[in-house]
Amino acid sequence: NAPVISNFIRAIIDEDLASGKHSSIVTRFPPEPNGYLHIGHAKSICLNFGLAEDYQGKCNLRMDDTNPEKESDEYVQAIKDSVAWLGFQWDGNVRYASDYFQQLYDYAIELIQSGHAFVCDLNAEQMREYRGSLTEPGKNSPFRERSVAENLDLFTRMKNGEFADGSKTLRLKIDMSSGNVNLRDPVIYRIRRAHHHRTGDAWCIYPMYDYTHCISDAIEGITHSLCTLEFEDHRPLYDWVLDNISIGCHPRQYEFSRLELLYALTSKRKLNALVTDNKVSGWDDPRMPTIEGMRRRGYSPAGIRLFSQRIGVSRGENIIDLAILEGAVREMLENESPRVMAVLDPIKVTLTNYQDGVTASRSAPYHPHHPEFGEREVPIAREIYIERDDFAEVPPPKWQRLTVGGEVRLRYSYVIKCDEVIKDADGKVIELKCSIDHDTLGQNPVGRKVKGVIHWLAANHAVTAEVRLYDRLFNEPRPDAVRGEDGEYVDFMQFLNPDSLQTITGYIEPVVRDAAPETRYQFERIGYFVTDRHQHQPGSKIVFNRTVGLKDSWAK
Ligand code: ATP
Ligand code: MG
Ligand code: MG
Repeated sequence: NAPVISNFIRAIIDEDLASGKHSSIVTRFPPEPNGYLHIGHAKSICLNFGLAEDYQGKCNLRMDDTNPEKESDEYVQAIKDSVAWLGFQWDGNVRYASDYFQQLYDYAIELIQSGHAFVCDLNAEQMREYRGSLTEPGKNSPFRERSVAENLDLFTRMKNGEFADGSKTLRLKIDMSSGNVNLRDPVIYRIRRAHHHRTGDAWCIYPMYDYTHCISDAIEGITHSLCTLEFEDHRPLYDWVLDNISIGCHPRQYEFSRLELLYALTSKRKLNALVTDNKVSGWDDPRMPTIEGMRRRGYSPAGIRLFSQRIGVSRGENIIDLAILEGAVREMLENESPRVMAVLDPIKVTLTNYQDGVTASRSAPYHPHHPEFGEREVPIAREIYIERDDFAEVPPPKWQRLTVGGEVRLRYSYVIKCDEVIKDADGKVIELKCSIDHDTLGQNPVGRKVKGVIHWLAANHAVTAEVRLYDRLFNEPRPDAVRGEDGEYVDFMQFLNPDSLQTITGYIEPVVRDAAPETRYQFERIGYFVTDRHQHQPGSKIVFNRTVGLKDSWAK
């Protein structure tokens, strides 16, 4: 296990445990099931579930499902899959804010009875007018002084479906002149005839986020309610609600900064637009910064967890380059992935002094530092493939790969020498004729040093694969933060990288033919690749996705 890096939230927890304020901790991860989770959520998942693990507490997974139009079972399922895949287990069953609709309603009645809530007939536009602005106080709603009896009657009838959508709201009676706009008599219920993915048509009024969230936390006995900084101004409301209802638990909210990943988007709404506009193949397109996308891309849970740990948790800006994520992923894959040879841009090489029709093979380890990964047979035959850029007719200085008259070692096999270059009419190299030094299998050649080692494949044994070379989805580091001359945000779709996907045919060692979907490999000297989770069919259709190159090619 990696060492625990402390942060301000851990300091608070340590203090709460030391003082006896809490004897154990309960956190929660509360996504709204209105899309797939992304890398920003991964940060929150690792934080909340990670704390529960480290402090032997509990972490709930709670669907914050109070906007029925945007939510669905598909999203609920995807969220559960993503959290589990990252390696975390929630406490007990998945929770749903919708499970608390009756309790939330009962607390609303309580707030009406104590004179803390009223039914308001202002429409959305009027409400905006009355709310005031950051510099100007708001005005009291003309409906603010309705009697408790009238409010109870109206709210019950709202619930019973007697009023049109949007015609009435239930609002808290706090302070229209508060410097904090969130405290200016916030709406806590609205009328919305929408089918809910779990409660169906049982309700036509739905509670608002701020009201729902604090009560859900209290019902679940959450000790530390962690959210992103934009909710800092909502904290007084969180506390106000819990202070004014008869609930025996008052969780504390703490805010940390949102992760923003450069060259990616961290907003479900914007990611949804990419899906809806067919800019990507779906939420799990390997170019998407969604957990499902990263999974399909070949990122491992350990790589994402390492990344989360590295970026830390604080209240300072958290804008992180994609290269940091790729670096963490690469670092974990290094020790997680067996290595095989693949040739993605082949030139045919004929080994002129290798007996025709004979295949031999040599056993080679899957990983130089992990003997437990085992070994496989690497076949050799008279015709092989090497990578086109491992040959240069006119080599640059210090070239250690193949050139006419030069020698290289075939990885795990013989030293070969290039004797002849064959070109087509356009001058493109189409074949090399090479000869083997038969005395170099497993030993150095006598009297000379051969430094270069290249990967290769026996042509008649290589598996043909569809290989998808993914690159970053955007050309612009902050695609959703670019402003035009008019000061307005430019549509981020303009910054899509047109070359973010290139599909080629590649050749790979025969052992990958039967690999299950989602098997990760290092293709030696090239990068990390994974068999596609959905389209790879063992034994018949071989499909690999490039996860990440071996080096950070963007640093150059
Ligand atoms: P989005 O705008 O993408 O929908 P959200 O915050 O509205 O994000 P939720 O489903 O409400 O999405 O998020 C669930 C939890 O994940 C919240 O506690 C939220 O604070 C956290 N979270 C979401 N995005 C990020 C991010 N970029 N960095 C850190 N935490 C995040
Ligand atoms: Mg949210
Ligand atoms: Mg959101």
